[in-house]
Amino acid sequence: MNKWVLNAKGLSAIQKGRVLIKSDMLADGVVDDGAVVRVESVKRQFLGLAICSQQNKQIGLLYTTTEQPFDERYIAEKIQVAYEKRQKEKQYRDTNAYRLFNAESDGIPGLTIDVYDDTAVLSWYSQGMYTHATMVYDRLLALPSINELYEKLRYQDAPFDSRFVSGVQKEELTIVENGVQYVTYMNDGLMTGIFLDQRDVRAYVKAHATRQSVLNTFSYTGAFSVAAAAGGAKQTVSVDVAKRSLALTTANFEANGIDMAMHQLYVMDVFDYFKYAQKKALTFDWVILDPPSFARTKKRVFSVLKNYGELLADAIAITAKQGRIVVSTNHSEYSLRAFEEMIAKTFKQIGRRYTIEKIFRQPNDFTHLNHSPETQYLKVVIVKVLD
Ligand code: SAH
Repeated sequence: MNKWVLNAKGLSAIQKGRVLIKSDMLADGVVDDGAVVRVESVKRQFLGLAICSQQNKQIGLLYTTTEQPFDERYIAEKIQVAYEKRQKEKQYRDTNAYRLFNAESDGIPGLTIDVYDDTAVLSWYSQGMYTHATMVYDRLLALPSINELYEKLRYQDAPFDSRFVSGVQKEELTIVENGVQYVTYMNDGLMTGIFLDQRDVRAYVKAHATRQSVLNTFSYTGAFSVAAAAGGAKQTVSVDVAKRSLALTTANFEANGIDMAMHQLYVMDVFDYFKYAQKKALTFDWVILDPPSFARTKKRVFSVLKNYGELLADAIAITAKQGRIVVSTNHSEYSLRAFEEMIAKTFKQIGRRYTIEKIFRQPNDFTHLNHSPETQYLKVVIVKVLD
């Protein structure tokens, strides 16, 4: 059998309760992606079995401290437990779209499963885990509420991005969340039109947007704009550099029967929009910042880790007194503490005061591992600008 021998750092991590195996925790051992691995200390003490799933630094999950095999029974049980957990939590979620399975946090690394009404979208993050795909399809189709499967391959050199797997093909699907309709696309590249982990933030924006003006940057399909409009915002402006955002955002407004007169869409670089808004002395009651971790446009490269302060400074400059900024990132290596420090430093430089009104992390269906903070990747800080 394959074997991983942990170094001192690895052993200490496992003893602290961590279950994610990273390349820097190994003293010895190279294994095939997707294989089961015996995990031992240098002194040959048996620590458990891991499943190898190669994704950047993370290379596997210690899935058992016994000799339990990683087989059909294991997969079936993990999917069943995850499904029952979500069914139990259903009463807290006002939606028919949710994460059914969240990778290592639910016991299978490299696989997430999102449900859109009766359709499941599987995302595979490692080639090795994808070798177990058939077992997963079978389990999902055995669940009472799943009739359709699509899948995305998110590992390097994958043969395709997206494909239909099983059921009746209906690629466009409107979901309902908190009374708002969102049009989603099951088989169009890696993204589906909505980020389900921002559900609580959309609800917050909707609840607080009455008679407010809202600027939604990196707006994609305009989900935040539509939530704000549904909550009675007097005006929304959505800015995204991708041309496709126009049709996608319009579809979302139309799905909710919202007249577009007070809702503007701009296809442009967010940083150019900020310049334009400053020149025109525009201000907003809400500014939403939810950028991708990394973006390259013709003019610049933006990295969440390096440039968030500049982005926030631009947002502060056009936020009204008593206005709010949604400061969001899903970068797993940006800790909440560092993120809050960046916010403090930026406000200090600009000389305006603020309070933190609320902090959102992932909703419950996006489970995380207690001892591995990187699995709790989402950080959304609602900042209120005081003066
Ligand atoms: N906030 C969105 C998700 C953003 S996805 C939501 O909640 O649904 C990231 C989006 O940022 C993509 O649509 C991409 O086109 C856009 N984008 C990336 N760089 C940009 C830039 N410099 N200016 C404007 N939009 C940008």
